[in-house]
Amino acid sequence: DYIARVEKEDNVIKAFLKLDKEAVMLAAEESDRRRASGSPLSPYDGIPVGIKDCIVAEGETCSCASKILEPVVSPYDSTAVAQLKANGFIPFGRLNMDEFAMGSSCENSAFQKTANPRDPQRVPGGSSGGSAACVAASFAAAALGSDTGGSIRQPAAFCGIVGLKPTYGRVSRSGLVAFASSLDQIGPMTHDVEDAAILLDAIAGHDPMDSTSLPDPAGGFAEAVRKAPESFKGVKIGLPKEYFAEGGLSAGVEKAVRESIEKAKSLGAELVEVSLPHTKYAVAVYYIIATAEASANLARFDGMRYGKRVDGKDLVDTYFKSRGEGFGDEVKRRILLGTYVLSSGYYDAYYLRAQKVRTLIRRDFEEAFKSCDVLLTPVTPTVAFKFGEKSDPLQMYLSDIFTIALNLSGNCGISVPAGTDAETGMPVGVQLLAPAMAEARLLSAAQTLT
Ligand code: GLN
Repeated sequence: DYIARVEKEDNVIKAFLKLDKEAVMLAAEESDRRRASGSPLSPYDGIPVGIKDCIVAEGETCSCASKILEPVVSPYDSTAVAQLKANGFIPFGRLNMDEFAMGSSCENSAFQKTANPRDPQRVPGGSSGGSAACVAASFAAAALGSDTGGSIRQPAAFCGIVGLKPTYGRVSRSGLVAFASSLDQIGPMTHDVEDAAILLDAIAGHDPMDSTSLPDPAGGFAEAVRKAPESFKGVKIGLPKEYFAEGGLSAGVEKAVRESIEKAKSLGAELVEVSLPHTKYAVAVYYIIATAEASANLARFDGMRYGKRVDGKDLVDTYFKSRGEGFGDEVKRRILLGTYVLSSGYYDAYYLRAQKVRTLIRRDFEEAFKSCDVLLTPVTPTVAFKFGEKSDPLQMYLSDIFTIALNLSGNCGISVPAGTDAETGMPVGVQLLAPAMAEARLLSAAQTLT
């Protein structure tokens, strides 16, 4: 059924970069056999999960929507995909994204523009736009995305689905092509909160293959959702005042988010105003740290070790040509920015300073969580915009304002649907944020709210 739907509708949506139908059908037959013999790998054996094209799966291409990695086939499974398979989930295709996860609309893909299933004139968000569109169009039961500065939560909001960014270190990054290593996390994109918890149960946990993976035990998330109380009695929900600044939200987004706040209140939540005073620096800090890390991480794509090679007259010329033709404009812009902020003479002024402000941003959250259990905020300033509407990169960066501080702090957060914008009919998301390792609390609150 899922394959049939993709064949019928993905020519318009363009969520998939590749879908190996034979491999999927083979896996499905194996799953059927396990079920028939009474030994399924889990209750979810046979369920298809779409995979963002920066998360490797054995025998599948992994282009990161970049020409430089177009020919690459992965010889191994990322830990997240291996854990999905161990539970019987079937990796279902390779999903479009902004090149190397850099962007907020999927327009930076080197190959295709994915449309928003709710209105194909509009972007699905990014960078996990293919994953969000895949779930919103019911091309698969769920998908994996990655979130470095909002790339799971923002497209989830734009497409009317659920997107969870786990605590940094919760889900192994082994086999996730690195963009900004201190910010990247893999997470689930799903139809509802329970599905997100089920997938997190499958993919979370310590992994010796990722040195930043947390040793803490993980699991019991689906259970927490199933036991989520009907009311918010005794729960304190913090509203960071910087996220509700005058003029910061479009009317439709503001209305839907306010309605969510009212709903939380009517369910018994105690609302408390909190402050995250360094929010105003988050975009600047993120675009220094993320580009610095990206410039280092992307140095490995040199036309020698991986992917596309364009032969030049000597080694250096081959590097130049391979990278020059292999990377798109946004990726080059970020490599240049990142190299600049790391260069001697500028390192202290930009990179080091950004790291210091990052600490202040993290402390803001620690302080705020002293007076509340979860935070509630908007996910995006506007609903999904039309293709080409945000052609200025800086405007695109600024639209990440509500999602990136979470990655800088390492805490966990989720975007859940919060109604539609009357003017455009597009979905609006609302974001809940919780301290590091508090996914059970976060998911439980998200379930109560939805
Ligand atoms: N939109 C942000 C960026 O372009 C976030 C991307 C992400 O989370 N991968 O960097």
